[in-house]
Amino acid sequence: MTLAGDLRHRGAGGPKVSRRRFEADLVAGKYPPGRPPPGGVLTDTDAEVARLALEMVEAGLRAGSLAISRETVPACRACGHLTGTGDHPCRACGSTGTRARTGLHLVAEPAYGRPALDRPDIHADRHRQPDHLRRTVGDADRRLLLSRTRDHGIDLGPLGLDGLVLDPRAGLHATVLAAARRYRADTAVMTVTENAARHIAAHGRPFREHEGTRLRYALHGRLPYGPSAGLKPLYEAYRATPGAKDGFHEWFLPLFSLRVKSATRPEQLPALFKYYMRARLARPATVDAAVLESVRRSVRAGRTGWITDRRTLATVMAARATGRCRGAEAG
Ligand SMILES: [Zn+2]
Repeated sequence: MTLAGDLRHRGAGGPKVSRRRFEADLVAGKYPPGRPPPGGVLTDTDAEVARLALEMVEAGLRAGSLAISRETVPACRACGHLTGTGDHPCRACGSTGTRARTGLHLVAEPAYGRPALDRPDIHADRHRQPDHLRRTVGDADRRLLLSRTRDHGIDLGPLGLDGLVLDPRAGLHATVLAAARRYRADTAVMTVTENAARHIAAHGRPFREHEGTRLRYALHGRLPYGPSAGLKPLYEAYRATPGAKDGFHEWFLPLFSLRVKSATRPEQLPALFKYYMRARLARPATVDAAVLESVRRSVRAGRTGWITDRRTLATVMAARATGRCRGAEAG
């Protein structure tokens, strides 16, 4: 989904593997072997994503929030790749010479006085709104270039912008909305770190709503990467099954990162594992439907308190074991 993906694709032997296959393998590599995510995988190389993105661009052009205009932008002297502002070598070929290049581009028109990120764009209850983030993303009062030179991505050729693709930061939003449509959901919640939100919010602004489907961000904190030595004795003490360990790493920790937006440190993991195992051991034999319904309401409203309430978590775990809890997983 990224320019980095283009470069890795080239590094991996380019044409020998199709870009689409390469991208699919990259995504698959993020999940354990043989266990792709239950909701499926969608990237900006999928035709349904490209179709929706173009539909959204056309709607934006009609509404006047987007425009196709002649722009002069810095480009690599060697390969023509748009280098953007800033003093760095070309990200496509590594060359350092630039020249100004004038041509047609897709731009987002300024929305004076309107923030690039507003309260309804964040999936969180009002007590946990990231006011600092919204202030630092700034206002949408400058024109933003939305077309890029890039080998792969959502081709803007059908709009007469030959050789240009939609900026991947915008394309990402179209990808999430396409997934929401696939499930006939009217709201898609995209989980991102605060830094990622800061990086993509302005480019995503024209792509967060389309024909009644809306995209909101749920912020999550960072989790420690890789194995944690501190957990091994606890696995043994609790006689944790592979299923219990997977549930901790792949289900509980991502949920916990939605609750606690600051980075989780490796030394916190043992205490979190104990909490998780105690909830797991306390799973009720019968699921209280009222508790489950209140969790669903919380998930819809962006409330996360239930994750650190052990009895509620135990109920959700029991419901998951009986396949009754898709709503909470989607949170
Ligand atoms: Zn170049």
